[in-house]
Amino acid sequence: MQSPYPQLLSPLTLGGITVRNRVVMGSMHTGLEDRARDTGALAEYFAERARGGVGLIITGGYAPNRTGWLLPFAAEMLSGGDARRHRRITTAVHDEGGRILLQVLHAGRYAYHPLSVSASAIKAPINPFKPRALSSRGVETTIDDFVHAAVLAAEAGYDGVEIMGSEGYLLNQFLAPATNRRTDRWGGSPRNRRRMPVEIVRRTREAVGPDFVIDYRMSMADYIENGQSWTEILALAAEVEAAGATMINSGFGWHEARVPTIVTSVPPGAFVDISSAVAEHVGIPVVASNRINMPEAAEQILTDTHVQLVSMARPLLADPDWVNKAAGDRAAEINTCIACNQACLDHVFVHKKASCLLNPRAGRETTLALAPTRSAKSVAVVGAGPAGLATAVGAAQRGHRVTLFDGNEFIGGQFDLARRIPGKEEFAQTIRYFTTMLDKYRVDVRLGTRAGADELTGFDEVVLATGVTPRHPAIPGVDHPMVLSYPEAIHGAKPIGPRVAVIGAGGIGFDVCELLTTTESPTLNLKEWKAEWGVVDPAEARGALGTPDPAPSPREVYLLQRTAGPQGKKLGKTTGWVHRASLKAKGVHHLSGVNYERIDDDGLHISFGAKHSRPQLLAVDNVVICAGQESVRDLADALTARGLVPHVIGGAELAAELDAQRAIRQGTELAARL
Ligand code: NAP
Ligand code: SF4
Repeated sequence: MQSPYPQLLSPLTLGGITVRNRVVMGSMHTGLEDRARDTGALAEYFAERARGGVGLIITGGYAPNRTGWLLPFAAEMLSGGDARRHRRITTAVHDEGGRILLQVLHAGRYAYHPLSVSASAIKAPINPFKPRALSSRGVETTIDDFVHAAVLAAEAGYDGVEIMGSEGYLLNQFLAPATNRRTDRWGGSPRNRRRMPVEIVRRTREAVGPDFVIDYRMSMADYIENGQSWTEILALAAEVEAAGATMINSGFGWHEARVPTIVTSVPPGAFVDISSAVAEHVGIPVVASNRINMPEAAEQILTDTHVQLVSMARPLLADPDWVNKAAGDRAAEINTCIACNQACLDHVFVHKKASCLLNPRAGRETTLALAPTRSAKSVAVVGAGPAGLATAVGAAQRGHRVTLFDGNEFIGGQFDLARRIPGKEEFAQTIRYFTTMLDKYRVDVRLGTRAGADELTGFDEVVLATGVTPRHPAIPGVDHPMVLSYPEAIHGAKPIGPRVAVIGAGGIGFDVCELLTTTESPTLNLKEWKAEWGVVDPAEARGALGTPDPAPSPREVYLLQRTAGPQGKKLGKTTGWVHRASLKAKGVHHLSGVNYERIDDDGLHISFGAKHSRPQLLAVDNVVICAGQESVRDLADALTARGLVPHVIGGAELAAELDAQRAIRQGTELAARL
């Protein structure tokens, strides 16, 4: 059979190794790196991805010394003991035919502890700790520490190292004039700023011999003021190659950058042209990265550009079998990462272990299994939202006979709404995945069917994943024709005028504002995205930053909440700032501490605070209610009355903080237990 993705699935020689395909699992910290007791779980996490066909895996970041820790007592590669412990990881990956590099990461001024160091003593805007400037001797010692970590990685059985030079970490701090104000041989001229990373590559090559892979992760666009220029970036690529690097990986944007580089609203493959331009300039392979999540796109990139590998981190968290599915021409079975960050990076940034919203087994491979059942049961699942879908597919995959009911004519529940929000189009991929898997595992899907107690009697197990209904708050005039529920607004059930008030500033209120302030219906358009965020080609300006020029909003929108203070505080750590910045760019008016007095033909009447002061009329054409949800669970009572004890999960169990992550986790855990 001809390979469906001939470029993607072709082998490549890198130094002394050959990788079986062009898929690189990019580095992502999971939290399992930090404690020796989690080594077994980490080994199984990587082994599952190697078993799934990934060519080359890169670990999360390991510090080469203690000043480089991301957090106190974070992952490090400092001693023979560390190296011995890692043998379990490298053996597990090699046994599955994979290859693996250790990432050596010095956090520099992003280190969240008082020992932090940097090129100069300039505090990062996202960290309360001010770094100390490394002395010249300190720079030499740090280079030695990087080399030592690489030597230990070789002892541990790694095929190579990735030297982390992007995302604003220490080496990036030496490279950019914004953070390097030194006047010694490690700062000042561009060549001096490049000296430290280049010396690390050169001395590492000397220490590890010719075959060991040295991958240099390079920041190809810093997206900060006074970042690197394009000439400097190309010069660095050439010098890193001359110093002995085997390959170059791509990085975009510092952690403090105010340009989103990985969230759902970033157009797929947004940075590939930049990686390709670097690849044209060097003779070693360059890896493309960021917002690549399906094999067809990856194949296209390898065919159309100069890059030779593609890196994906989150897509392999979401589906460890990604490569095998691509190779078997089963791309429709891929559980596609939707770049939501909710269970991966949002966890990492609050020091919780990473997992995946779509795949709760990620990081829990040793404790959460969907093993074949020994006693197949008949299972009824009511509700085809995320919780019900996860239960139905998980249980059917285990061998149970599953019937899935939903009153709608389509599956997806809240995901069907999410996919209609500009910038969240990829949520449709999850619906495609579940549609394929329901079919594959022969789930009896009964759409347009409201199951009642009669239909559910006789099943061995009944699962109620009936979800939520939008809250209808008791505001005088809430039934006025100008008022829409958020599902009505998202589905376009009625025309919406040029002035709109949105009641409720939670995740859905923000999403609805995004929809109301976007002119055209959504495609992830790279040109518009660049204009919105002030992103230019790196050759046009230092740091690749220009002046933002967002498309004007077609509506005047007011976003309201009763609670005083800033809005959107509960949005995700890594995505909330993007939503807030996006609405600000569209001129949305944020009003907090509001009382909703009444709605009438004139608009929405509000006042402020406990004293109902400063009465005001918002002369709007429409009001959209995004005031949270209530559980739908009347069936539970009817079933209990018949002596049946259903499993109630997802929004049906708890509507407050309705959360797809919890819904899918509960569904998967229940499927594993049935
Ligand atoms: P939510 O986050 O709980 O927000 C509900 C909003 O309604 C709050 O702003 C609340 O603010 C207001 N509210 C509650 N009861 C009200 C009442 N009786 N009258 C008027 N206002 C009332 O719920 P959601 O926005 O529906 O989101 C549901 C879940 O999906 C959340 O967990 C959310 O995080 C998640 N989600 C996240 C995103 C994202 O991160 N981008 C997007 C969509 C959904 P006051 O009480 O202050 O008025
Ligand atoms: Fe992708 Fe979201 Fe899963 Fe993270 S949590 S891997 S972003 S789907």
